Amino acid sequence: MIRTVIFDIDNTLYDYDAAHAAGFAALTGYAQRELGVALEDFPALHHAANEVLKAHAGANCAATHNRLIRYQLLLEQLGKPLTHAPVMERLYWNTLVDAAVPSPGVEDCLRALKAAGVRLGIGTDMTADWQYVKLERLGLLPWFDFVVTSEEASDEKPGEHFFALCLEKAGCPAEACAFVGDNPKKDVAGALRAGMRPVWFCPGSEAEAPAGVLRVDRLDRLPGLLLEGPTP
Ligand SMILES: [Mg+2]
Repeated sequence: MIRTVIFDIDNTLYDYDAAHAAGFAALTGYAQRELGVALEDFPALHHAANEVLKAHAGANCAATHNRLIRYQLLLEQLGKPLTHAPVMERLYWNTLVDAAVPSPGVEDCLRALKAAGVRLGIGTDMTADWQYVKLERLGLLPWFDFVVTSEEASDEKPGEHFFALCLEKAGCPAEACAFVGDNPKKDVAGALRAGMRPVWFCPGSEAEAPAGVLRVDRLDRLPGLLLEGPTP
């Protein structure tokens, strides 16, 4: 019997790809206006700054997602004033958050799980600050009993320590804990290795789920499948 369900945030609770496109477009426009960077040159500069950040911080930590540091590195490379860094960070995230829409059926899903006495958690890569802003703005924060970020765990999905911390907070045996996420390599693989019940959220995909993995394309179908469906 499932006692705890842990959710990824990005591309699970909301459509990150669409919201990111809005944020990135705003950032590209800013770089053109304020830094004189041609629109077509910005993605490569942005990618290069990200590679430097990974080289400095290491790939397996939440700092690799820190856009303040990423834009600082970009400005250092361009020889432009660092006063732009916090402005760019806020512009990107505020535009993304404004554009973020909850995934269809997410509130019905959380309500049904709560009504069945299930504990609800968050298991997400990223720094805690903007993940909390996303949950607040999506109106979903009140549903959750605990949060694990890769910043708190000092480990990114699918790391063993990240999932061990999720289980510790879940307060139940691994087999009574489901982990819901869109990323097969991070969410599904990590949950499988930890002995949890992996749920692959894959809207719009025809792909088959691996053995032992529950597949859902709408979150409001999850409670019925998870609480009443056959165990694989
Ligand atoms: Mg995700």
